[in-house]
Amino acid sequence: MEYIKKHVRDVIDFPQKGVVFKDLTTVFKDPRALHIIGWDLAQLYRDKGVTKVVGIESRGFIGASILSFELGAGFVPVRKPGKLPADTISASYDKEYGKDTIEIHRDAITEDDVVVLHDDVLATGGTMAAAYDLIKSMNPKKIYVSFIIELSALNGRDRLPAEAEVTSLITY
Ligand code: AMP
Repeated sequence: MEYIKKHVRDVIDFPQKGVVFKDLTTVFKDPRALHIIGWDLAQLYRDKGVTKVVGIESRGFIGASILSFELGAGFVPVRKPGKLPADTISASYDKEYGKDTIEIHRDAITEDDVVVLHDDVLATGGTMAAAYDLIKSMNPKKIYVSFIIELSALNGRDRLPAEAEVTSLITY
């Protein structure tokens, strides 16, 4: 993980003053770092019978795509309002810098699914808590929660349900 940490770029005051943005584009553009991320994410879930990996728009799509491919699972997008073409369900939430709504296709998850919910960064946890509620309302067999980076000072884990199995590759 030291190799990955070296490639994470801190961007001060983005997207607004006071935020230290953990930029993963500098990780994803490095072939070795990208490979390590994909492999290490997949190792956590190989024996879990995962059928769908849900990625949160837009930075979560990258890790979720790699993870779903590695696990032989399907990929499902959670997107911002108005982006998904078919019938959706939605949830609104507060985040570190503003308010937001997310949507998922109503038929994306079934009761037979074992789901990994993935985003790049756990900050305040609002995004993932809303996504978790959405997926939970679809009654899958199991939901795992996965991040590349966790910003522990923001206590995002406290916002997630106690039952959620949360894993982060890197904690700051
Ligand atoms: P939150 O709902 O506060 O946990 O915010 C998580 C979402 O916002 C993730 O999708 C991240 O991509 C993004 N995000 C929030 N804060 C940061 C940060 N300091 N660095 C990088 N991404 C962040």
